[in-house]
Amino acid sequence: MADFDYDVLVIGSGPGGYVAAIRAAQLGLKTACAEGRETLGGTCLNVGCIPSKAMLHASEYYDAAANGAFAKLGIKVKPELDLDTMHGQRKDAVKGLTGGIEFLFKKNKVEWLKGYGTFTGPNSVKVGDRTVTARNIVIATGSSVTPLPGVEIDQKVVVDSTGALELPKVPAHMVVIGGGVIGLELGSVWRRLGAKVTCVEFLDQILPGFDGEVRKEANKIMKKQGIEFKLGTKVTGVTVKPAPAKAGGGKATLTVEPAKGGASETIEADCVLVSIGRRPNTEGLGLDKVGLATNNRGQIDTDHDFRTSVPGVWAIGDVIPGPMLAHKAEDEGIAVAENIAGLTGIVNHDVIPSVVYTMPEIAGVGLTEEQARKKGEVKVGKFPMLANSRAKTNHEPDGFVKVVADAKTDRVLGVWCIASVAGTMIAQAAQAMEFGATSEDIAYTCHAHPTHSEALKEAAMAVTGKPIHI
Ligand code: FAD
Ligand code: NAD
Repeated sequence: MADFDYDVLVIGSGPGGYVAAIRAAQLGLKTACAEGRETLGGTCLNVGCIPSKAMLHASEYYDAAANGAFAKLGIKVKPELDLDTMHGQRKDAVKGLTGGIEFLFKKNKVEWLKGYGTFTGPNSVKVGDRTVTARNIVIATGSSVTPLPGVEIDQKVVVDSTGALELPKVPAHMVVIGGGVIGLELGSVWRRLGAKVTCVEFLDQILPGFDGEVRKEANKIMKKQGIEFKLGTKVTGVTVKPAPAKAGGGKATLTVEPAKGGASETIEADCVLVSIGRRPNTEGLGLDKVGLATNNRGQIDTDHDFRTSVPGVWAIGDVIPGPMLAHKAEDEGIAVAENIAGLTGIVNHDVIPSVVYTMPEIAGVGLTEEQARKKGEVKVGKFPMLANSRAKTNHEPDGFVKVVADAKTDRVLGVWCIASVAGTMIAQAAQAMEFGATSEDIAYTCHAHPTHSEALKEAAMAVTGKPIHI
């Protein structure tokens, strides 16, 4: 039998890759993880989930202080923005967490191979100057920003999400191209810090993939907060006029037109954020060396166990089909390691929650009402946050919770909510759905009072028409 350097080599150390590597090592497999970045943790820890949440958290306090929410509570302050310190705490969060993965690698005896990995043949990968062999190779190379043809990202005037996290000053006018998760989160950050924000979205509504009513309500709330939306509009060009040397900044002129055709107009901006999606990282991986092809969306297809079509090669996370989310990648990381070790690793792709970390947060799990109605008869229960005692007391009246259940069996098919802590609330919905709960199960579960989560109980009660507080 062939001798390999490692039982498992994971390529990429994002939430998919580092979790797979740690679990494989925990299961007694000799494991290495190749990472081309300077630090571990992938997109999520370095330039994604964590730094964006650091800026969202800080800017939310600033907004509350600047725009009257603190004053309403009897706290009078005149805030002054210290953007350098705000960026400093973001960098500290990233440093602490990426360093934490390095610590966990050492603790679990996962070897970090520094450099980008390229297949050189079956079971063989070149990482930097070294070629190593492994019985099992897990591709966890993640994703990168989708470019907009004809629009060059200079990370000064035209930025992607990475550049938008690091702007050295608040732009007077930021135009966000794409009303998806990144557009709403990072648009909110800079709107809160004082920028005028315009969001140009190709589709007729923001947040594709979310429940229709949630998309509409989210749009209404974001508009009320001051983001201007140009829906059903496409950007046909962006020209940049750089500022004179040393002056910093620069200006952009965007040409936009109705997505369905019509007269074009121009928009002037100090900063343009391109956030139209992400695409899988497979370039330079040498997939041809092992006879692995990508599908028509550039992803690597796998079976239910995360095996690719090539024996010994597995794939997880953003590089395979499914939502591009850190927790989906993490769960796949655990499952693939368990499958490699001969155990049964499973991910239920029907129950992956999605959260947009705006204020209020927007969250959902399972089927949207539209998807559920296509499959059969459903019953829907809704409860407004305005009628939830805790939300009302905290001056957080926006949003609602919606439970979609099968009309015959009452089994919960989807839960959607807009609430200040929707991201935390959605966990109980996901767990209930994992256990095959009915709306009645949720309605008869005792929820602590006063909590935002009581709104989920009441929405479940509303499925059969009997909420108490409306
Ligand atoms: P990645 O995290 O992309 O990691 C892949 C790693 O592989 C990278 O470090 C890369 O350098 C490395 N790599 C690539 N090719 C090679 C190679 N050939 N050799 C060696 N290394 C290689 N998701 C959420 O769930 N919640 C959020 O709040 C959230 N916020 C986000 C905010 C932003 C601004 C962005 C951009 C994304 C956000 N996401 C969020 C998405 C989340 O970051 C991704 O879904 C997640 O990181 C995917 O994990 P992954 O392990 O598949 O890949
Ligand atoms: P997205 O897919 O969420 O949204 C992209 C938006 O851009 C869509 O609404 C789309 O219709 C629109 N669009 C596409 N082409 C366009 C064009 N030419 N002009 C105008 N609009 C256009 O993508 P994203 O916001 O870039 O985020 C990328 C990925 O990162 C997502 O898959 C998301 O899951 C992940 N992410 C997750 C979180 C989170 O979980 N909180 C946060 C940030 C990013």
